[in-house]
Amino acid sequence: MVPELYLDANATSPVLTAAIAAAHAALEIDFGNPSSSHAAGLRARLILDDARARARRVLAAETGRVMFTSGATEGIQTAVLSALCAVRERRAAGQACGDLLLYGATEHKAVPESLAHWNRILGTDLTLQALPVDGDGRHRLDLLRELAPRTAFLCTMAANNESGVVSNLDGIAAVLEQTGSPALWMVDCVQALGKLPLALERTRIDYAPFSGHKLYAPKGIGMLYVRAGAPFTPLMCGGGQEAGQRSGTENMAGIAALGAVLRALEEGRTFCSHAQLLAVRERLAAALRAAFPAIAFNTPFEHALPTTLNFAVPGLSGKALLDLFDAAGIRVSAGSACSAAKAAPSYVLEAMALPAWRCANAVRLSVGPLLDEAFVDAACARIARCGEALRRQPLAASPSGAGRAGVYHCGLDGGWLVFDPEGGDCVAIDVPGTQAGTAAALLQRHGYRLRAALGAGAEALCAQVEADADVDAGAWPADGERVRLADGAPAAALRLGRDVLVRRPGSGYLLGTLENGVLRQARLLFAHTPADAHDAGGAIVCLPAGIQASRVEQKPAELARRHLKHFFAEHPDALLIDVREACEHAAGAPMLQGRAAYSLPLSRLAEYAAWLRDEARPLLFFCRSGNRSLKALQCLQGLGRERVWHLAGGLALLGN
Ligand code: PLP
Repeated sequence: MVPELYLDANATSPVLTAAIAAAHAALEIDFGNPSSSHAAGLRARLILDDARARARRVLAAETGRVMFTSGATEGIQTAVLSALCAVRERRAAGQACGDLLLYGATEHKAVPESLAHWNRILGTDLTLQALPVDGDGRHRLDLLRELAPRTAFLCTMAANNESGVVSNLDGIAAVLEQTGSPALWMVDCVQALGKLPLALERTRIDYAPFSGHKLYAPKGIGMLYVRAGAPFTPLMCGGGQEAGQRSGTENMAGIAALGAVLRALEEGRTFCSHAQLLAVRERLAAALRAAFPAIAFNTPFEHALPTTLNFAVPGLSGKALLDLFDAAGIRVSAGSACSAAKAAPSYVLEAMALPAWRCANAVRLSVGPLLDEAFVDAACARIARCGEALRRQPLAASPSGAGRAGVYHCGLDGGWLVFDPEGGDCVAIDVPGTQAGTAAALLQRHGYRLRAALGAGAEALCAQVEADADVDAGAWPADGERVRLADGAPAAALRLGRDVLVRRPGSGYLLGTLENGVLRQARLLFAHTPADAHDAGGAIVCLPAGIQASRVEQKPAELARRHLKHFFAEHPDALLIDVREACEHAAGAPMLQGRAAYSLPLSRLAEYAAWLRDEARPLLFFCRSGNRSLKALQCLQGLGRERVWHLAGGLALLGN
């Protein structure tokens, strides 16, 4: 397997070796309860006090409250609860305190969700309003100036987790000051710790939550700073731990680990300096530009953390890029919330009013400040490998033989590209509007000429393709020819290499070869709906969403990773088939149990489905996560194939 390079530090970080050691000692040796007065308790108390003292020094927060929490989400709840309780009391006492709960439009969802939740629970009935950001992702201070006098509670972040944009906190503080705003102010500092200077006591900030796992401490530990004199209401009551501010026996392993990270921050020898991180970003950005020349960076570098690169590549979905990086062993994330099948456009980038394709296809690459040259060298080399792999032709020659038309399926949303690799012509069938941009970019990148755009989405595709294509959306090309079907009926046809695409009277299109002007045996039938697929005459039926699986085998054919060895012992002649895209295979071709795999992408399955159906050897499909291999399995089972399996969980679960 390709060794993993973790470039998703804004999601979470690995745990610092010193933090692991500290946690281990707190679990094994100094496991006392810091509230106990015996020696074991006192040793635990020392760890707790030491961590807090370090936090105060690192955050420049000698006064005010610094308490340990389970993470930023808890810190945010505590801040929101405290602020809203104060607003309720001030209002009851007849004081002016504003009617708005104002939050930055690009805040982490924990913020608006908590505001709405506690506003409802406490019956404070304030109005939630998002503060827009400008095209650079920074808060609109002109609008803040208008709203500040009415704002009861303002929530902004120090740096954004998706885009890396650093807020202008001084500018915000100045507006609050100049407008005499009554607002309490929370600044989510999760992405700032260790990357930006923080001197909390010298600011007007009332609440600042932190999360340990974003900076080399484990998950489940965080901190909350509350300015001296700022209103405070505990979220949790009970045994009075943390001076009654946060009851519940302390997470001592987490606190010890966070203490070790704070120590490293304080001593200043472990993490890269800002200048070093700027140089790292330059190198990573240069590698990305070389690999993907059309890349668009979504955040202006001068306003962003040097550790976050958010970008999109024209014609490549965020999912396709993620898969490619993953194949090369680079872990990055789609810059947007992902569901299993589709990525929703990023609300952070939408708030910046970036073009829709950049919001939908954004990828975030983020590093932490703990790196060295060797790591950056390796990351740049892998990025270069991704660029080379991408130049592998997804619309390469057909596995059916020289001169035969190739067939490419445009993903889950559906649609087909039927193309002649030698002549350079392509016909699009039922390519939906959602795929038009990707399909057009693919044709352009590989120099194909669109001959016809047929069925659903034809207009959207024609609009995306270069004007010189001169294609009438939905129309059969005028330069087509007439052929006869096997039953003698005349039909319109289009040559694609040695094959012909024939318009079937009634519905659908057949792909096959001519014999003396007659289409004898069609390999594939492109049908719009299952009802159109009648009389397929042995052809594989291609529907917009994929190959029609008519008979689904009931027998479970999932192979768990722990059974791989046994599987190959039992089926030594099995064919191992990588159904990921050709570029993913090129970026990192894995060996399973010492066996090499064939690259037969799911997007090209239509062309080799008949061959796989008739092949005698057992088949084992695999992909990145098990989704695409399951689809391939279902198609083959639907075609009546037996002795076919897929690797459940995919390569992701095999580890390194
Ligand atoms: N705020 C920001 C900016 C974040 O990035 C995150 C985590 O992604 C959170 C808050 C929530 O942190 P946690 O899930 O650790 O409580």
